[in-house]
Amino acid sequence: MKVFKFGGASTNSYERIKSLAHILEYHKDEKVLIVVSAMGKMTNALEKVVDAFYEERNEDALKLFQKIKDYHLNQLKYLITLHWEKATTQLNDFFTEVEWLLHDKPVKDLNYYYDQIVCVGELLSSTLISYFLNEEKLANEWIDVRDLIRTDDTFREGKVDWDVSKKLVSEKLLPLFEQNNFVVTQGFIGSTDENESTTLGREGSDYTAAIFAYLLDAESATIWKDVDGVLNADPKEFPDAITIKELSYKEVIEMAYFGAKVIHPKTIKPLQNKNIPLFVRSFLDLRLSGTVITSNQNHHMPITIVKKRNQALLTLQTTDFSFAEGKPVNLLYEILDELRIKPNLTQNGAITLFICIDDVDEKTEKLAILASSFFNVNIQKGLTLLTLRHFSEQYLQMNEANAEIILEQRTSDTIQQLMK
Ligand code: ADP
Ligand code: ASP
Ligand code: MG
Repeated sequence: MKVFKFGGASTNSYERIKSLAHILEYHKDEKVLIVVSAMGKMTNALEKVVDAFYEERNEDALKLFQKIKDYHLNQLKYLITLHWEKATTQLNDFFTEVEWLLHDKPVKDLNYYYDQIVCVGELLSSTLISYFLNEEKLANEWIDVRDLIRTDDTFREGKVDWDVSKKLVSEKLLPLFEQNNFVVTQGFIGSTDENESTTLGREGSDYTAAIFAYLLDAESATIWKDVDGVLNADPKEFPDAITIKELSYKEVIEMAYFGAKVIHPKTIKPLQNKNIPLFVRSFLDLRLSGTVITSNQNHHMPITIVKKRNQALLTLQTTDFSFAEGKPVNLLYEILDELRIKPNLTQNGAITLFICIDDVDEKTEKLAILASSFFNVNIQKGLTLLTLRHFSEQYLQMNEANAEIILEQRTSDTIQQLMK
């Protein structure tokens, strides 16, 4: 059994969905679970629907959702002919579910509605792809991942219940492979034991692929991307970046944790725990072998660079000149936990704490307000966090000259610099 994951970039046009089918042609005789994300930037578009709904701008929410409907119905026209009616009915069922909700008034937490609405992106894309593959004679079954991946009710960041999911996979997914070699399902989403939809965190489809690889004891997982593999930097930022052919789980988890957007950080653990290789390959050029990620250490690592923009630095100083330790610091970590903020960099002084975080969803302001009851808070925004691994002194000297570094942290193999 293999697990393939196709992200938004690999399903955002007719040509790309064609090439997805082309890839599967090569694997016709193998059992493959196909995990797909929402098409293109659909999740961003759905987030806007959620915002409008939650601000009780129901008309706007419905209008924005209409655009999403039109996009998928248009894709359907190009992709599906034979079973056009059945596919349309299926899409309409998903549309109706969301539209019912959009007529309501929000009475629950925002994160709850977020998951009920945003999950439709993956349901729509996987439905279209499943019908399309069937028309291309790539026989497959479609399954709703919400019948397979059980999570708790931490909406927007569902925690997987591995035991229940394992049971559901054996009962509901494995039998489908008795009839067909291919099964299509969704990444990023799951459901609670009360049948409420949940999501696993933005970009979470990679993680879903890893969850399935783990639960199915797959021989490998492959993530198909619009890049040649894992490169030593984002090629959109650094056009000279090079593909790294072999990487260890440890190296990738570090890169992803520091913000390399190529793989979701949670993807590695399930694979590492069962020693399942992860391939990152280009859906644009099948001749390239891409990157293989295993437990083997690569002793010839090039310098790796991760640039994270849109950072905020909070400087927290104790109000009464007491040391920045003990109770106020414990309280601060409780607040971070409550707001679901993972600091990207922290540093201590005697009476001061520095915390660098992603400046998103007004979390900087929320954190500042809550922390201001026991710290004097200062905020700097619009910063960039640069993380370098396997760097040389020469490289640092060349690059440090032009940058205004506000904060720096260094271990033997990693340096992090926060700059303006
Ligand atoms: P998808 O959602 O389609 O799976 P993403 O857009 O999430 O794909 O991830 C692919 C993108 O990740 C690439 O287009 C590239 O710009 C970016 N990226 C960031 N860092 C790296 C890296 N180190 N190696 C390769 N790609 C990277
Ligand atoms: N569609 C989701 C997102 O854009 C999940 C994913 O693409 O992995 O975040
Ligand atoms: Mg992605």
